[in-house]
Amino acid sequence: MPSTTNTPAAYDAVIVGGGPAGLSAALILGRCRRRVLVCDLGKPRNFASHALHGFLSRDGIDPAELLRVGREQLEPYGVEMILREVTDAARVPDGFRVTLGDGRVIAARRLLLASGVVDRLPQFEGAAEMYGRSLFHCPYCDGWESRDMPLAAYGPGREAYGLALGLKTWSQDVVLCTGGKSRLVARDRARLRRLGIPVREEAIVRLEGEDGRLRRVVFAAGEPLDRGAMFFKTGQHQRSPLAQRLGCDFNSRGTVRTNRFEGGGVPGLYVAGDASEDVQLVVVAAAEGAKAGFAMNKGLQKEDLALAELGRREAAGGRRKRTGSRATRGSETAAVLRGQRVREPSDQQERGGRGTPRPTRSGIGNRKEQNAEDE
Ligand SMILES: Cc1cc2nc3c(=O)[nH]c(=O)nc-3n(C[C@H](O)[C@H](O)[C@H](O)COP(=O)(O)OP(=O)(O)OC[C@H]3O[C@@H](n4cnc5c(N)ncnc54)[C@H](O)[C@@H]3O)c2cc1C
Repeated sequence: MPSTTNTPAAYDAVIVGGGPAGLSAALILGRCRRRVLVCDLGKPRNFASHALHGFLSRDGIDPAELLRVGREQLEPYGVEMILREVTDAARVPDGFRVTLGDGRVIAARRLLLASGVVDRLPQFEGAAEMYGRSLFHCPYCDGWESRDMPLAAYGPGREAYGLALGLKTWSQDVVLCTGGKSRLVARDRARLRRLGIPVREEAIVRLEGEDGRLRRVVFAAGEPLDRGAMFFKTGQHQRSPLAQRLGCDFNSRGTVRTNRFEGGGVPGLYVAGDASEDVQLVVVAAAEGAKAGFAMNKGLQKEDLALAELGRREAAGGRRKRTGSRATRGSETAAVLRGQRVREPSDQQERGGRGTPRPTRSGIGNRKEQNAEDE
């Protein structure tokens, strides 16, 4: 079905973020002949990385190259892309009003936040130069390249304890650096001792090395520690405030709770990639983007089909001068135009008879029961 021309929204979907999640959603939607606008700030989370790992068939690719190919492959489908920040978005009856950094206001029937997260980098000297070369946050991304090296796990919270345990998969020589008095309890300390993981609780002053390669960790007191790489757990936050502004529900990690089709708990709003809860890997972000694209198209299809059907019935009704039922149908058409779902006869069958998902406390619905069409 061609992109709609019979609704007031200019775009079928606006996608905030042109990273792996956003581009993947755009690819699915473009191939569904949807009118799509991708807005990107051009600040991907992994800007400091030189090689992307763990993506089937793309292991080791330059992350910028992956995005370049992704953008290039959108061209045949007429997806529009602009390098511009989305500064605001609001839910309106027929979808969303999206404000761009240049003041333009765009109408969209569906909105996808694929805006990613930002890592809080350790604040000691040398961290910025080594970030992405020998200072990392994710062992699944960079653990293999650091295998069998002397490793440091850094973080002030209890998560760094888990990180230190996890790093034993890649190296037997792991030291936990807490950068200050830790909150480790006696049981944690005993476990670390049993596993041969020493703990350094002194404040870190700087990282020393050459060409971004870590050689030693220098503390405010005590001997420096020779290390080949450091992994850190110092937290992250959403790149964009839009999810919060639109009323999404967040988990304790600061990512958005979504249903299994990446629905963000607000009608017509989807959140995919690192910004939503799940494993934070490029391949997962791309998969979530694809799922969101699929679900968005399903919802749009239903609206388009309902509109087309009602339009035909209204035309036929008008010809037969059956004015009695026309008012109802007219109000249904208006409801679809306002972005409200109209219950269709096929709804129950398409849901496999499972019915409407029951809302949870977060309003997202029962994940297992939720279907792509139920937004
Ligand atoms: C150093 C490092 C190395 C990594 N290595 C790997 C690896 O080897 N393998 C792997 O699988 N994963 C790796 N990751 C994780 C990976 O980067 C993320 O999982 C992935 O980038 C998530 O994709 P995304 O599309 O959700 O977000 P992003 O890639 O962060 O893209 C989001 C985009 O949205 C844009 N944006 C945000 N807000 C707005 C706005 N308001 N308006 C317009 N645009 C906006 C941002 O500028 C950005 O371009 C690494 C991460 C880091 C930090």
